[in-house]
Amino acid sequence: MEDVIRTVQIKLDVPTERCDDLHQTKNQFLHCANTTADWAWRYPNDYCVTSKQTAENALYERLRTETELTANLVQKGIRRAVEATKSGVARLKNGENTSQPHFDAWSVVYDKRSATFHRDHVSLSTVNGRVECDYVLPDDPEGTPIGEYLLNEDYEFRMSTLQYDRPTESFYLHARMRRATSEHEQSTTDSEDAKHRTVLGVDLNVDGSLAVTSTGAFIGNADEMNHRRREFEQTRGSMQQTGTRSAHLSIQSMNDREHRWMQDELHRASNRILDEARDHGCTHIAFENLTDIRKRMAGAKRFHAWAFRRLYQYVEYKAEMVGIEVEQVSPAYTSQRCSSCGFTHESNRRSKHQFVCQKCEYELNADYNASKNIARKLLKRLHSGQTSSSGGAPCQCALPSGTLNLNGDFHASVDSTVEGESTDKPTTSVVGY
Ligand SMILES: [Zn+2]
Repeated sequence: MEDVIRTVQIKLDVPTERCDDLHQTKNQFLHCANTTADWAWRYPNDYCVTSKQTAENALYERLRTETELTANLVQKGIRRAVEATKSGVARLKNGENTSQPHFDAWSVVYDKRSATFHRDHVSLSTVNGRVECDYVLPDDPEGTPIGEYLLNEDYEFRMSTLQYDRPTESFYLHARMRRATSEHEQSTTDSEDAKHRTVLGVDLNVDGSLAVTSTGAFIGNADEMNHRRREFEQTRGSMQQTGTRSAHLSIQSMNDREHRWMQDELHRASNRILDEARDHGCTHIAFENLTDIRKRMAGAKRFHAWAFRRLYQYVEYKAEMVGIEVEQVSPAYTSQRCSSCGFTHESNRRSKHQFVCQKCEYELNADYNASKNIARKLLKRLHSGQTSSSGGAPCQCALPSGTLNLNGDFHASVDSTVEGESTDKPTTSVVGY
């Protein structure tokens, strides 16, 4: 069936004190697009980069640290520039005159991950949490695009842009609406809006388990990866000494094999993290910030930094396909804080893999403790980003047998609680099974 897509221009009623957040978001979004264009546009000296994946691999992390944008907005900025580069290359091929793309128009791209679209208002992700904007709707929308498409439940929201009209100082959502081709798609969109925010925390390690989640899953084997890595290096060392051509070829193929093995291992780990998030009904996955990992983490080699980045990219990419957001949080004190009582002290961590709280004597695996603190950090950030929203969804950390909200109230999940309990209050509802 053919898709019908219509664009509807909707004026937004932005709270005065949040206008600046939208302007800052636009500035940083354009920074992502322009940085990408600078990097991707290499004419006439070299081929331009027109692969989104290549551009993301090269620039994503840097732009995440340079901006306060969510993962999704950084990606959209990169993609916008790659699209423009692609059309520039097409013009060059047609013999037309063109130059490096430059972005200065007031425009930010939003999709269902960075915005929650409703029929009467929209919630937009910004550099400073979410902002809720009511639509300014005409008294009699019948016969207008607003009545025909925006208020018509047969149409669903697609990737849209936020724009600003300087003369009138007004924000507009250019909503792209698609006529839903099946009932299934429609219901997916609607249920997304009502979902709770539940965070899976992930702690990454250079030894022991590669990743430990706040639900208590120990994933991947970092020791095995280190061992394989050392073996590869030793064999390579002895072969390089023989110096023959056949030895050289074997090194090439071994590099490929090593690379493939590591990638497979990281794919498997990313799949398990995704499974864990889905099994616990998580809307978000939190990682520690991955920059400066070698300075911060004792024993971290260049290859660990590479592996962590790769794992993060796999999780982020797969999460995007199932509508889960992946975020990084500051690593400060995540290993020193007691996830039970909150007491934070450097003496708390007794040994590498065992955590003992000096205040409440809570004792548990140190990485598991850290992953719970990582989840809590993102939870706090999400919570602070929705202060103005009266109908804001409750926020929860995903733990092995239930969820923890920011007040420290624990709620058992369905597999460990009596049926019929905890159904009336939204903050006490359980994670989905
Ligand atoms: Zn404690």
